Amino acid sequence: MRPDGTGLPLGSDVIVIGGGFHGTSSALHLSRRGAKVTLLEAEYCARHASGVNAGGVRSLGRHYAEVPLARASLGLWHSLPELIGKDLGDDAAFVASGMLQIAETPQELDKLRRRVAELNALGFTHEVIVDAQQVREIAPRLAHHVVGGIWVKDDGHAVPYRAVTAFRHAAQRLGAQFHEATPAETIERVGSQWHVTTPRGVFTAPWLVNAAGAWSGDFAAQAGDVVPMKPGGLMLMITQRVPHFVDPVLSAAGRPLSFKQFANGTVLIGGGLRCAADVVRRHGEIDFLKLSSSAQTVTDLFPHLAGINVVRAWAGVEAFMPDEIPVISLSRHAPQLVHAFGFSAHGFELGPIGGQIVSELVFDGRSTLPIAPFAVDRFAPAAVH
Ligand SMILES: Cc1cc2nc3c(=O)[nH]c(=O)nc-3n(C[C@H](O)[C@H](O)[C@H](O)COP(=O)(O)OP(=O)(O)OC[C@H]3O[C@@H](n4cnc5c(N)ncnc54)[C@H](O)[C@@H]3O)c2cc1C
Repeated sequence: MRPDGTGLPLGSDVIVIGGGFHGTSSALHLSRRGAKVTLLEAEYCARHASGVNAGGVRSLGRHYAEVPLARASLGLWHSLPELIGKDLGDDAAFVASGMLQIAETPQELDKLRRRVAELNALGFTHEVIVDAQQVREIAPRLAHHVVGGIWVKDDGHAVPYRAVTAFRHAAQRLGAQFHEATPAETIERVGSQWHVTTPRGVFTAPWLVNAAGAWSGDFAAQAGDVVPMKPGGLMLMITQRVPHFVDPVLSAAGRPLSFKQFANGTVLIGGGLRCAADVVRRHGEIDFLKLSSSAQTVTDLFPHLAGINVVRAWAGVEAFMPDEIPVISLSRHAPQLVHAFGFSAHGFELGPIGGQIVSELVFDGRSTLPIAPFAVDRFAPAAVH
């Protein structure tokens, strides 16, 4: 404990910067293994990407390097009450609805077939090719030009804000201290401790986790790990309620789409719809032209939706890496620092496993999952892994 005159306990075993899903999941997994954790959040937990995303719990279509992590994370999604604590009782509204990626041309279907064959050769059998008839059984209202697709039966969706909050409450119950409205300003290694300066005092711990999302690059650079991470905006829109017509989450092989209907009838439309982000003012700029082309995709695929109203659109700020896979890695330049950022539009599904990997790096110095592709120095000129 290092009192600073405000009465805050500023010393702990691990400081986590960032109260998104990866920060709160890290706090939970670290606390489960007995660490005394302090989490610092600049605004409030789940304020950014982790609280405003589409909630897609998708192992389908992952970069091959991410597949082992995505499948391991899916296992945790399916047992959230055990991870979070049954009595806390929040399953983040996770629904294993299945996920379908559709092909609109024979060429697209061939591409999907090649992918599934490659995945099978790697030992992963969760992505299954379905033909036009099976597609219609899964989503009967889908336009008839769809020729087939990939089906993953145990993928699904959840409610982002509830997921982050559930992990946060579980971590707090195990003793983690959360400080909102407490932006980390500078990080510095002093002897065997990290010193993190904030407007509320200097927090200290031997270990530091950098999970500040689109703002992580600055902390990585302060530790000597320069990364080509770029912040960017991502948009979503939601429609008025319509009668129930589809269960699984849908995406398309040939154009940007992520699409689901909630139990209340509203339809969420997105799919990596990029827009500008202002990291200083901490928000994304909605681009209505791009949204309208996405709406067109939806009505091409579900003609009966022509004419329904979009009632809300928003944009979140996300951290993008040039190769679109994250950094989950020990620092190469500073001791006892773990980076977990750069999730490039698909980090929500990885949240449960991301925190577990961070806890393994802190406690064991290595992960049980293959994380070499996510090394922080993979873009350095002489990177060898
Ligand atoms: C619109 C949209 C749709 C998406 N849809 C999906 C989807 O369907 N499925 C999927 O898997 N992924 C999806 N994603 C991606 C996913 O949301 C992100 O990859 C994931 O939430 C990243 O989590 P994070 O914890 O790394 O970052 P964040 O959620 O951004 O959390 C980082 C936190 O750090 C805080 N912070 C920043 N600077 C500081 C500081 N100086 N001090 C302290 N705290 C700081 C921020 O305030 C923020 O709360 C989507 C993203 C967006 C924006």
